[in-house]
Amino acid sequence: MRNEDQSLIFEITKEGRIGYSLPELDVPELDLDELLPAGYHREEAAELPEVSELDIMRHYTALSKRNHGIDSGFYPLGSCTMKYNPKINESVARYPGFANIHPLQDESTVQGAMELMYDLQEHLVEITGMDEITLQPAAGAHGEWTALMMIRAFHEANGDFHRTKVIVPDSAHGTNPASATVAGYDTITVKSDERGLVDLEDLKRVVGDDTAALMLTNPNTLGLFEDDIVKMAEIVHGVGGKLYYDGANLNAVMSKARPGDMGFDAVHLNLHKTFTGPHGGGGPGSGPVGVHKDLIPFLPAPVLVKKDDKFTFDYDRPQAIGRVKPFYGNFGINVRAYTYIRSMGPDGLKAVTENAVLNANYMMRRLEPYFDLPYNQHCKHEFVLSGRRQKKLGVRTLDIAKRLLDFGYHPPTIYFPLNVEEGMMIEPTETESKETLDSFIDAMIQIAKEVEDNPEIVQTAPHTTVIKRLDETRAARQPVLRYSKD
Ligand SMILES: *Cc1c(COP(=O)(O)O)cnc(C)c1O
Repeated sequence: MRNEDQSLIFEITKEGRIGYSLPELDVPELDLDELLPAGYHREEAAELPEVSELDIMRHYTALSKRNHGIDSGFYPLGSCTMKYNPKINESVARYPGFANIHPLQDESTVQGAMELMYDLQEHLVEITGMDEITLQPAAGAHGEWTALMMIRAFHEANGDFHRTKVIVPDSAHGTNPASATVAGYDTITVKSDERGLVDLEDLKRVVGDDTAALMLTNPNTLGLFEDDIVKMAEIVHGVGGKLYYDGANLNAVMSKARPGDMGFDAVHLNLHKTFTGPHGGGGPGSGPVGVHKDLIPFLPAPVLVKKDDKFTFDYDRPQAIGRVKPFYGNFGINVRAYTYIRSMGPDGLKAVTENAVLNANYMMRRLEPYFDLPYNQHCKHEFVLSGRRQKKLGVRTLDIAKRLLDFGYHPPTIYFPLNVEEGMMIEPTETESKETLDSFIDAMIQIAKEVEDNPEIVQTAPHTTVIKRLDETRAARQPVLRYSKD
């Protein structure tokens, strides 16, 4: 694959070049037919790149330099909580006793790993205020779906088969309506009011006997805390519905407020966001779900239990919704989250929340004179600016995002949430220094000035990256994910 105009030569194969050296075979060659059933044999050699060890090293190092990660620079991608992933997490996850075990090993040989999972569940119970936790779901959206399946099982166990609707505010994360649909529900949208919070009158209008649940993203995608949660809980519980808390952004409330205390029946967490699991390259996540005691019988089996000081998996769960993930979740990510919680301690986690919220408010107030701020009030971990002032001058939010690349920053989340025109959702996180925040703010102010004085430099950005503007539709619709020689 060659891309001359971008001066990026991807294909470096030279026929006959190899990147490994193996000793001569000094044992009898095995008979393939005995090892593998016919039909599984390759007729022709696989087409693989032919490169030396040094070539391949340089190839990947060059690619990594063209990427942007949290270890290379500021990454204020709203809702994604791109905070620093402490390296102590990595060393603990690499302990041989964690890294080299197999999920099919006998329970008696992996008691330490099971204890870690059990303790992590206990910590998450305390952090969320829920009664029990499952570590099975592999990511946030998977946790949402898992919880909805439990809610459905709960209603059906009560002979309640007519609850077909899940209520989702228009300020919810995009995965909420998607998960509700995949779980077989109809999604009903409830509007936000002029403060950007759920409109209680509209909520009262849409709830009824057919309500299975309300899914609430809190803080919502505007970075605002839903003040009326207790009233919402009364309204939804009043008609027999369940309350679901999208806790992916727990970074804003951790150690300050707990979904369990607010009356929620289920919550998911994103351990790969708030609890410093590395993410952003499509790597594994972890989306544990916490439930109120009413939902415990429906937790996916097996459930990790402690009996006579030993840990064991309980498969005898007749009302369980079934398994939602092979084995017991993404163990390596759970080890990292456990390490993070233990190394921070309760006071550390509280400081995380305070600093995440402080950083977001600081940036919001410093940028407010230069960009529109449609919902002007204290924010939590993130805030949403609008680029509509710049759009009137012919520069779109996409252009501003591309221009930020020239300053070495990953852009914020853009065009989300949908209820903000030309939205820019900025989440600084607590791990950034004031100097970093100030440099980013300076870049944003400079761009706002360029939009007035020299819009073309913004409209034609980026100017300093190897790749300029991608054909994003083609990249999404026709991704080239496999090596091919031509
Ligand atoms: C990231 C996020 C999700 C989805 O989590 P995934 O792990 O990407 O599936 C859901 N809700 C909110 C509020 C989020 O920020």
